[in-house]
Formats: sequence, C-alpha cells, structure tokens
Amino acid sequence: MPDNDILKTNNLSFKYGAGVRALSDVSFSLEKGGFLAILGPNGSGKTTLLRLISGVLKPSEGEVFLQDTPIDALQRKDIARKIAFVPQQIHIDFPFTVREIVLMGRFSYLGGIGIEKKEDIAIARDSMEMTGISHLQDRMIHQLSAGERQRAFIAQAITAQPEILILDEPVSSLDIKYKVQILELISWLNSRNNITIIVTLHDLNLAFQYAKNVLLLNRGFISASGPPESVLVPEKIREVYDIDVSIIKSSDGKDSFIMPSRQGTEKTGRKLT
Ligand code: ADP
Ligand code: MG
Repeated sequence: MPDNDILKTNNLSFKYGAGVRALSDVSFSLEKGGFLAILGPNGSGKTTLLRLISGVLKPSEGEVFLQDTPIDALQRKDIARKIAFVPQQIHIDFPFTVREIVLMGRFSYLGGIGIEKKEDIAIARDSMEMTGISHLQDRMIHQLSAGERQRAFIAQAITAQPEILILDEPVSSLDIKYKVQILELISWLNSRNNITIIVTLHDLNLAFQYAKNVLLLNRGFISASGPPESVLVPEKIREVYDIDVSIIKSSDGKDSFIMPSRQGTEKTGRKLT
C-alpha cells in the first residue's frame, strides 16, 4: 500500500446474524488528508461500513487496514487514538455538562485511575474554541439545540486528536444554516489540521460542494467511487436512487447543483387516476 493511504478495506462483507448481507465486497482506499462522503439510499449499508472501519463491528469477510496494520491487530485504545467516530444518534442518560462531554474525548489517553491532566484540559478547551462552543461549556448537553449538540460531539471527537474523523449523518437533523456551519467546520478541520474525514450524507449537493471523493453504495455494494463530478452523474443517480435529475452549473462554472426532475410527481399522479 502506498504510504499516503491512511485507510484501506479489502473485500469487506458483513451480515447481521444469519440474515441478509448488509455489505458485500467493499474495497476502497483513502489517502491521508482525504475527505470522503459515503452516499446511498436508506439501508444501503453506510452505517455498517462506518462501524466496520472504526472497529466497532468485525467483518464477516475481508479486512480493514489502518496505514498498513490490520485493525484487528490493534488494541481498542490504539484505535481510539487514530479514529474518532461520531455516531448518528447519541443517547445521554446522565446530566453531563458540555465540558465533561468534551473531556471524555481524552479517555484513551488517561492513566489507570482515569484522572485528566492539565494537558488534557487544555486540549479540550482548544476543541471547544475550534468548534465555537466555549460559551456553552457549563450547560447541560441535553439542554442544547441539535446544532450545538452536534458541535459538542465533534469537539469531543477532536479532543482525542484523531488522524481520521468519522461522522454518521452529522447534518441530517439540522436546518440549512447549521448544515453549512457543521460542514464548514469539518472542512476546516480537514484543510487546517489535515484530519482525514469520512462522512455519510443524504444531501447529494452538500457532497458535491464539500467532499473530495464520494463512495456511492447501493444495496451493500459499491456502485461508484471517485470525485463527485464523475460519480454524481444523472445515469448513476437514476440507477441508485431511481429518480431523474438534471445537473445545473453555476454561472462561474465552479459549482454544480443536482436538481430532481418532476417526472416522479407525474407518474404518481397517473397512478392515482
Ligand atoms: P444505512 O446507514 O445506509 O441506512 P445500515 O448500514 O444501517 O444502512 O443498514 C444496512 C442494512 O443492514 C439494512 O438492511 C438494515 O436493515 C440492516 N441492519 C442495520 N443494522 C442492523 C442490526 N442491528 N440488526 C440487523 N440488521 C441491521
Ligand atoms: Mg445509517
């Protein structure tokens, strides 16, 4: 594997119990400093893939490599120092403050008795500054808005000083302003701190705008991968999502927008008559 690749998967497959495969034969590699968006319809295997590459699940077949080490040869703490995973839904049963939540990002660095040092506290403070939540540090996590809570969990993740930051649908429940704010933050962490990003998104336009590469999943298989402009073409989108779209270029040619066509509505209308 070239030195530049920080993560690689070889023919990954996964079955939940004896059921159908959630993921089949997934092979890809990601270079250090990359920004990969994983796309695909509901149930196409996005979350399962994130769980496999962060070592939460073990593959039924195939392997995951971090740099050139198989992930199952690493200890949990070693993985936690390299990869931070922000799951889609985080349930908090206890009334933690934002500061406590962010400090939990240091758990893999704490000694036997688990007491944080000055350095850990300073790193947590920097993370809160970077994510713009310093003013919220004494607030209870469950009393924050969805956008603020998302930033607190991103702050927790970067407090672990990971090489790879993985986020599962970080903007799905947010309004357009917070969507852009979170993606700008992730982009900034990617370009300024060279953190490799893997993110699942539902919004194809946001993937177009922010990701350097996309991986399109369909029923557990890779349907296409590469730069957004080569993957997110109308034929592929029709094949995977079963909708017709047009690609519209901005007047300066720098941005592209994917616009669903109205034929779907007509079809439904016809069915109803
Ligand atoms: P996505 O994140 O793209 O919506 P998932 O990876 O969550 O897709 O799911 C892929 C497939 O695996 C789906 O068919 C889903 O029903 C199934 N699946 C996901 N989680 C479980 C689970 N804990 N037990 C059984 N099947 C699951
Ligand atoms: Mg999912």
